[in-house]
Amino acid sequence: MPYPQLLSELDLGFTKLKNRVVMGSMHTGLEDRFWHYPALAEYYRERAKGGVGLIITGGISPNREGWLLPFGGTLNSVFDLRNHRKLTRAVHEEGGKIAMQILHAGRYGYHPFVVSASAIRSPISKFTPRALTRAGIERTVRAYARTARLAQRAGYDGIEIMGSEGYLLNQFLCRRTNHRTDEYGGSIENRMRLAIDVVRRVREACGERFIVIYRLSLIDLVEGGNTWDETVQVARALEAAGVTLINTGIGWHEARVPTIVTSVPRAAFAPLTARLREAVHVPVIASNRINTPELAESLIAQGGADLVSMARPLLADPQFVVKASEDRADEINTCIACNQACLDHTFRNERASCLVNPRAARETELVYRTTQRPLSLAVVGAGPAGLSAACVAASRGHRVTLFDAAETIGGQFNLARRIPGKEEFAETLRYFESQLRKHGVDVRLGTRVDAALLASARYDEVIFATGIMPRRPAIPGIDSAHVLSYVDVLRGAPVGRTVAVIGAGGIGFDVSEFLLHRSGDPLPQPRDAWLAEWNVDLAVAEPGGLARTRHEAAPERRIWLLQRKKGKLGAGLGKTSGWVHRATLVRQGVKMLDGVTYLEIAPRGLKIARDGIEQWLDVETIVVCAGQESLRDLVPASAAAGGPRFHVIGGAALASELDAERAIREGAELAAAL
Ligand code: FAD
Ligand code: NAP
Ligand code: SF4
Repeated sequence: MPYPQLLSELDLGFTKLKNRVVMGSMHTGLEDRFWHYPALAEYYRERAKGGVGLIITGGISPNREGWLLPFGGTLNSVFDLRNHRKLTRAVHEEGGKIAMQILHAGRYGYHPFVVSASAIRSPISKFTPRALTRAGIERTVRAYARTARLAQRAGYDGIEIMGSEGYLLNQFLCRRTNHRTDEYGGSIENRMRLAIDVVRRVREACGERFIVIYRLSLIDLVEGGNTWDETVQVARALEAAGVTLINTGIGWHEARVPTIVTSVPRAAFAPLTARLREAVHVPVIASNRINTPELAESLIAQGGADLVSMARPLLADPQFVVKASEDRADEINTCIACNQACLDHTFRNERASCLVNPRAARETELVYRTTQRPLSLAVVGAGPAGLSAACVAASRGHRVTLFDAAETIGGQFNLARRIPGKEEFAETLRYFESQLRKHGVDVRLGTRVDAALLASARYDEVIFATGIMPRRPAIPGIDSAHVLSYVDVLRGAPVGRTVAVIGAGGIGFDVSEFLLHRSGDPLPQPRDAWLAEWNVDLAVAEPGGLARTRHEAAPERRIWLLQRKKGKLGAGLGKTSGWVHRATLVRQGVKMLDGVTYLEIAPRGLKIARDGIEQWLDVETIVVCAGQESLRDLVPASAAAGGPRFHVIGGAALASELDAERAIREGAELAAAL
């Protein structure tokens, strides 16, 4: 059997999990409105069908004070049972197990009723919390127990108590947010009193034969967090209070250390789970940036964890476990940790989905049915848009020929994967390759399509996914030899030690990171180097696990990153990842200038004006990252020739605001409709 440890059963005494894969809690936005529960049920059904051992739902608040957002999902009355039973029934019908996460947001709530241990506002909510009184604490404990009991009545196999990421219970646990002087503040025994009371009362309410998971913060990554010894003390007390499993939480939401974005090395924090496992008897769950069955297997095989939690990887591929168990891991649509369609959506208050799997949380809307009328299709362009269209169309039974002028599939993803910290993007191309093979797509690489080629074959329909051309702004001197486009740079053109980057969108930031990478340093970045760069001490000797001495390295190049508009550079980057890119560049001394007018390029560099003042940036190389324009010169000829019906998708349809999320989604939606 492949992955024998990962796929082995776990006996919890009163119940068994069929394997060690836990789908971690992930808020999709469907949880918050009861009329979305049928769609949410189908979302979970697909994951249960895909073989995951235990599903943990998105966070459900125990009361109004605990809402993350106004009118968030709740389970605090018998009237909610009907909706929740839709979820548990769907999972059980597929032979799965499901636990409901109880999440009290505390001061992270974005509404006026917020409460916490002390009245200290968080940097990520504008609402100052009210410090809970003793009576308020007792009401909160009762609310947890009531919600857990209702979850049991709704058919859940267990609950997870969210105690990490800086939510309410974590706020009580740490001095950072707990300044109380009563029996809930001061020593760690007092600070953990609420968490322990919650577990004890939940256990009393639900009995012994019910899974109770506690998600414990193993490293807070904020000043005023806990030390390792305190965390172990809490874990042992939780165990004594009756938890079945301990899940791992890493870092508070307000921490300035990235914990799950793509540049975080895989399993970067897993050593902490391994250490905790030595200190307790209950099974422990590893989490954060674990996205392949190989990695999950090795963590368990080496004794680093009993189970592995994967939230986003199960969003990206509901069949993760089935594919692993059938030795088809090369067919897994791997989560690339981009956060673009999941967490970034959630933070914009939109429904979560997945960049590489646009069906995620839209299972009832985007359906790939076998076609009754197979067509002969030509797809021109094997970038993300064309690949997505070709694979979905072929999976439905259409005959697909896919062309690309390049010798490899992938379009701009071949450039994206060269950016330090974006190595995961190669996984998407590996996935698409497996799908092209599986569904028998006729792939013709090194073939530049023109109108004559299309006319010479009899296609029923043609899909143009020809992408974009980099924009070349009309600056005097732009044709000089020391001006390069981002494409030249990422393909290896020599670049000087001083550089001006024109354009500070996603690509301007990425290219700056590429240029800062020291030649000879390995990629992907090894874990220890990454931890040192972000000041993380996995020993958690200091409160919160932030090392005392900051790691400083001399930058490889001096870079000026420029944009014409006024305002912060990188404002358009993803909510959950943009700050990481900005912090990386600032740390390496990149000068960011806004409100720039480009006047002239000459051998000495680039002449700009800001606020009416002209200046020369004396640089050896100028790199243009000034956005893109659609490449669609084939479209008018096809329209004029009156040939087969055609469609235009991805960058070829619209270059502005283009990203891979839109490109892949458009390809899939079109192919689902043909
Ligand atoms: P493309 O990827 O441009 O593909 C078009 C394909 O068509 C190419 O392979 C081309 O060779 C082929 N083609 C063109 N004309 C012809 C012809 N006549 N005959 C045959 N073939 C033809 N997006 C994100 O969402 N997140 C990111 O983090 C991200 N990072 C990026 C980093 C970099 C450095 C770059 C360059 C891009 C990044 N992107 C990112 C953008 C993302 O890659 C694009 O949005 C996406 O590739 C667009 O897909 P597409 O299929 O429309 O076009
Ligand atoms: P972009 O985000 O549109 O940025 C283009 C930049 O060029 C802007 O800074 C723009 O700012 C400048 N610009 C535009 N026209 C110009 C002109 N005529 N002269 C000089 N400057 C000009 O595009 P991109 O950086 O090329 O990225 C393409 C797409 O890939 C983006 O939509 C992005 O979503 C995606 N991407 C995403 C990520 C990610 O991490 N999520 C990373 C890379 C790429 P001013 O007009 O103010 O100068
Ligand atoms: Fe993973 Fe990106 Fe999909 Fe989120 S959107 S699940 S991070 S691939």
